[in-house]
Amino acid sequence: MKKVYLDYAATTPVDPEVLDAMQPYFFDKFGNASSLHAYGQEAKKAIEDSRKMLSEFIGAKPEEIVFTSGGTESDNFALLGTAYALEKKGNHIITSAIEHHAITEPAKFLEKRGFKVTYLKVDKDGLVSPQDLQEAITDKTILVSIMQANNEIGTLQPIAELGKITRGKGVYFHTDAVQTIGHIPVNVDELNVDLLSLSAHKFYGPKGVGALYIRKGSRLETFMRGGDQERGRRGSTYNTTGIVGLGKAVQLCQKNMSNEIKSQSALRDRLIREIPSLIPKVRLNGHSVKRLPNNVNFSIKYIEGESMLLNLDLFGIACSTGSACTSSSLEASHVLLAIGLDHETAHGSLRITLGRWTKESDIDYFLEKLPQVVQKLRAMSPLYEKD
Ligand SMILES: *Cc1c(COP(=O)(O)O)cnc(C)c1O
Repeated sequence: MKKVYLDYAATTPVDPEVLDAMQPYFFDKFGNASSLHAYGQEAKKAIEDSRKMLSEFIGAKPEEIVFTSGGTESDNFALLGTAYALEKKGNHIITSAIEHHAITEPAKFLEKRGFKVTYLKVDKDGLVSPQDLQEAITDKTILVSIMQANNEIGTLQPIAELGKITRGKGVYFHTDAVQTIGHIPVNVDELNVDLLSLSAHKFYGPKGVGALYIRKGSRLETFMRGGDQERGRRGSTYNTTGIVGLGKAVQLCQKNMSNEIKSQSALRDRLIREIPSLIPKVRLNGHSVKRLPNNVNFSIKYIEGESMLLNLDLFGIACSTGSACTSSSLEASHVLLAIGLDHETAHGSLRITLGRWTKESDIDYFLEKLPQVVQKLRAMSPLYEKD
């Protein structure tokens, strides 16, 4: 059976060149990067090469990068690390209503421990208003965390503009850039951010490795204790293979990015154009232009996302409803509710995300099968008949 993967926002395959780069560090060059002998120094050098590659890629200095176990750890580190370092200064944190759970859950944890959290509303396209941010900042605010691109609806926030506001008020600014790194240009100075999270498996690197960018001079309480790695900011034996893979993935994204933006946004725009002409009663979620080049999200009325996924899966097509973390529960996505959808419409959402190996023929196949699936499910839906 034909297999078509359209779920690159959930995870990406490791690029074969990334795998090749990692391979020697499992056996021949297996040393512990903290060891002083040649084995250790060889691993250490590879890690520092990756650090340099990543820092240049995002316009940072090598010493401003801390490698972590991925996006979730980086997000937790940013929130908890700032909260604990600055709790004497203030106890107020601002974030948005559409963040990933890796932000909203630590935010809720902090709320239970005496911190106040403001969740900024978004408009119907998923955008945070700079004026709302301006008005929400008080003299107790220590941190603002707003994601650069939403993982479900693909909307891109005006991060540089929001960062100007936080800078003017002397408040730390964190962005979860897990969906943007490797997909669109990202520069920490242009974005005016102090902290930035990224994860390798979202840009053709291995799972379980990521980084937190920490602007020089920012005070963060250590999150992982037990070793002096990463200048004492994160204990744990260096994940050499993962870090080498991350560096190689960065290098490949640097090389391919402008072509991939062009080819993926052309396929994205074809889906955005053709889905409404093939299927009545659909709604595009997310901003029409301020969105990731690889993200498409539609609500398809009268049917459930879960049934759509399973029926598409029978044709070998993989996509998503909401985010991979929420789709195993039957709660409607907090992101779709925040942009104003009712529960029923939110339940019928389909996310299609494209990547390095998506071909025009994959989109042809998808556009052939999706209307068949929708027709079949709507024929069984009592809601559809009434309308
Ligand atoms: C995937 C994702 C995360 C979590 O990253 P992991 O490396 O899987 O822990 C966090 N934020 C966003 C926006 C994501 O898409």
